[in-house]
Amino acid sequence: MATNTLNQSLDSWDQSPAASTLESLLTRQLAALTFPPAAAADTAAPAAGATEATSATAAQAAGAAEATAAPAAEAEGADTAVQTAGSRAAGAARVGAGGAPRARVSEPTPTVTPSHGTAPHAPGTHTDGTDTDGTHTDGTDPGDTAPDALVTTGGTESNQLALLLAREAHPGTRLIHGANAHHSLPRAAWLLGMPDPVVVPAPAGTLDPAALDEALTHLPGPHLVAATAGTTDAGLIDPLPEIARLCEQHHARLHIDAAYGGGLLFSDRHRPKLAGLASAATITLDLHKLGWQPIAAGILAVRDPHDLAALHHRADYLNADDDTEAGIPDLLGRSLRTTRRADALKIAVTLKTLGRTGIGSLVDQVCARAEEFAEMIDHHPRFELYDRPTISTVLFRPRTATDDTVAAVRRTLLTDGRAVLGRARLDGRLWLKATLLNPHTGTGDLAALLHLVEGTTPR
Ligand SMILES: *Cc1c(COP(=O)(O)O)cnc(C)c1O
Repeated sequence: MATNTLNQSLDSWDQSPAASTLESLLTRQLAALTFPPAAAADTAAPAAGATEATSATAAQAAGAAEATAAPAAEAEGADTAVQTAGSRAAGAARVGAGGAPRARVSEPTPTVTPSHGTAPHAPGTHTDGTDTDGTHTDGTDPGDTAPDALVTTGGTESNQLALLLAREAHPGTRLIHGANAHHSLPRAAWLLGMPDPVVVPAPAGTLDPAALDEALTHLPGPHLVAATAGTTDAGLIDPLPEIARLCEQHHARLHIDAAYGGGLLFSDRHRPKLAGLASAATITLDLHKLGWQPIAAGILAVRDPHDLAALHHRADYLNADDDTEAGIPDLLGRSLRTTRRADALKIAVTLKTLGRTGIGSLVDQVCARAEEFAEMIDHHPRFELYDRPTISTVLFRPRTATDDTVAAVRRTLLTDGRAVLGRARLDGRLWLKATLLNPHTGTGDLAALLHLVEGTTPR
């Protein structure tokens, strides 16, 4: 907090050792949530047989649940680290203690390939206690294989970084993405000078695995496949396990854009919808959606921390060798930005306050509200429902309206300042889109919205 005393813009935030410690704690927690050790074992286990491994995995899953429930408890360590700025050793010791559940689940993981394995020691902590950010003087710690995560400005930057890491790992990489992918993915390929992306059809709103198989079979590699968990149009989740299997078969790298759907990780009820997520090399999360953060709150989770060596960079005024060797954390190699906002702080505060289960119950609430809204539409004689929501996006349209009318209704509500509805084209028709993200939205609000749309639609 001394950084604030000297400069109220907080622009020295990223140079404070306490801030680095906090970011390290937060990112390792989010990485462990995204790539739970048990899920990594699930992925590595061959599809055929191994019932014994399955029961071991079940046991690990219990441990992983504990590990992912840890943010709230461990954030106490983070909190201490902030208060005792300058005495990182104390914070680091705290991390070690908090990391205990993970150390326990790491025992039965010899079935996992080394790069998916769990840390030989607590996340973000090194036995000498001198480095907490996982990026060493040489950019890597060969002994540290725990998944890591980067704080970004949003889903767009996370996708850009995912493509950059793929390009650096396999020069010449070509992006293959579904027609349902977020626009920022092909744009990132353009920005990074990568080959023109290949678009795989998504006729029902999700990436078609047969078409992906064909593309992977016929196009020369290396490939980066980008799948989506929580599509922009309908909030659908691509068939992740099938896509992961195809990537493994064809030796393609997998990125999953879970900017929207990644929030389901917090919920015990909805997390199973993300099965297969942990097979990805990189995963985009965006906590200004299902995470209730003000922007910016992007995360890129990275399964193999060695991938981050590509971002290693030195600028003497920020991370001189002697400073890094003396144990000053180095965030420069964890971002393409230089001066960084204190975005990690607000996310850590939310996790500490609500815990994983607290955020999870907010996720459950908005998903339940979306179900309710869909039902309301389905029972309404004048409206047509696109489908039951997978997450919290509901698509609907006035039953007899033309596309032009649907577009005009949306525009009228927008310009009159009455309602901000999205739009999506699916099945060759234009739909109104409501993405429910406010847990305080009530049944009355939903009925009022429907009434408003009905009243704005010319008969
Ligand atoms: C929101 C979103 C993005 C972009 O995130 P920003 O934070 O707006 O940059 C990318 N992909 C998907 C699937 C999204 O839902």
